[in-house]
Amino acid sequence: MDKKIPVGVLAATGAVGQRFVQLLADHPWFEVVAVTGSDRTAGRSYGAGVNWVIPGDPPAAIRDLVVQETRPELDVPVVFSALPTKQAQELEPKFAEAGYAVVTNASPYRMTEDVPLLIPEINPDHTALIVTQQAGRGWSGFIVASPNCSTTSVVLPMKLFQDAFGLQAAIMTTMQAISGAGYPGVSSLTILDNVIPHIGGEDNKLEAEPKKLLGTVHQGKMQLASLQLSAQANRVAVVDGHLASVSVKLDRPASPDEAVAALEAWQPPAICAQLPSSPKRPLIYRREVDRPQPRLDRDAENGLAWTVGKVRECGVLDLRYLAITHNTLRGAASGSILNAELLVVQGCITG
Ligand code: NAP
Repeated sequence: MDKKIPVGVLAATGAVGQRFVQLLADHPWFEVVAVTGSDRTAGRSYGAGVNWVIPGDPPAAIRDLVVQETRPELDVPVVFSALPTKQAQELEPKFAEAGYAVVTNASPYRMTEDVPLLIPEINPDHTALIVTQQAGRGWSGFIVASPNCSTTSVVLPMKLFQDAFGLQAAIMTTMQAISGAGYPGVSSLTILDNVIPHIGGEDNKLEAEPKKLLGTVHQGKMQLASLQLSAQANRVAVVDGHLASVSVKLDRPASPDEAVAALEAWQPPAICAQLPSSPKRPLIYRREVDRPQPRLDRDAENGLAWTVGKVRECGVLDLRYLAITHNTLRGAASGSILNAELLVVQGCITG
C-alpha cells in the first residue's frame, strides 16, 4: 500500500480505545488522524485527557491530537468504534449513513440481521451482508461488528468441532477479567477476594452471538446456526483474559484424540494470510493439565491467539474444553483491526 488509510478512533480514551491507539500507532495500512471522546475530554489534547492504563506511554504521534466530539465530520473514511453501548446505538448509524466504514466493538448492532458479525478466521464471507445493508438502508457507509469478548473466547473451537463433527449444543461457563468492564470498571472492594456471578447482558450475548458467527450468509441473507446454548458468565479477579469452560454436544461422536487432532490440523481461511496483523498460530493447543491460564496464555501471539486445553470426554454432553483469549486484544481492538484489514483486502474499504 503506497499511502496509509487515515482512520478515526471513537471513544479513544477508554480501555478498548487505548488499545486501538496503541495498536494502530505502527500499523502498516492505517494511520490514526482523529480521536473522539466524551464531553469530559473533547477539546483537550489526547495526552492530557486520557487516563492511560496499559503498559508504555500513549504514542507520540497521537498524544498531541485534540480530542474531538463524536460527530460524522471527521476527515477519514474509516472509524474504529469503542463507544459505550448507548452512544454506539445512537451514533454509529449516523456515521454509516454519512459514508464511513464503521468497524465496531460495541454491542447494539451485533445481532442486527444485515450487519456482519465478523471474525476473519471464522466467517470472512459474511461481509457479503454489507451489500444488503447498504441497499436496504440507502447508506453509502456500513457497520461491521466484532463479537462480545467472551463469545470470542468460546467460539473458534466450536467452529472447528462444527466443521469436523457437527455441533448441536454447548454449555458455557466463563471466568472474565476485570478489564472487560472498562475503566474504572468494578470497584476493588467488590472484586478482590471474590467472584461476581453476574455481568449484565453477558449470558444472553453468549447464547446468541455464536449462532450468527457459525451461521451462513445465503443470497445476501443471514441464516443463524441451529444450536442450543446455555451460558453463565462470572467476573473474576484477573486483569486481562477471559477463560471459558465449555461442554459440547456433537452430531457424531468424537474421541478427545480426534477432537485435538481436528484443532491441531486446522488452518485459517487462505485470505487471513494477507492480513498484516494475522497471528502465525491463531490456535494453540496446550497439553499440560493446568493450562490454559490467563496470566500465562493471554498474550500468546501478541494477544491474538486462542489458547485451548483440557479437551476431554464430558459425562453429560460429548466433549469439554477450556479456552482463553485476551479480551481487549483478540476480543476487542485487535479483532476489529483484523476485521478492517479483511475489509481492505476484500475491497470494502478503499481509503
Ligand atoms: P470504557 O473503558 O468505559 O470507555 C468508554 C469510553 O467512552 C470512555 O473513555 C469515554 O470517554 C467514552 N465516551 C463516552 N461517551 C462518549 C461519546 N459521546 N463520544 C466519544 N466517547 C465517549 O469502556 P471500554 O471497556 O473501552 O468499552 C468500550 C466499548 O467496547 C463498549 O461498547 C464495550 O461493550 C465494548 N467492548 C469492551 C471490551 C473490553 O474488554 N473492555 C471487549 C469487547 C467490547 P472519555 O474518557 O472521554 O470520558
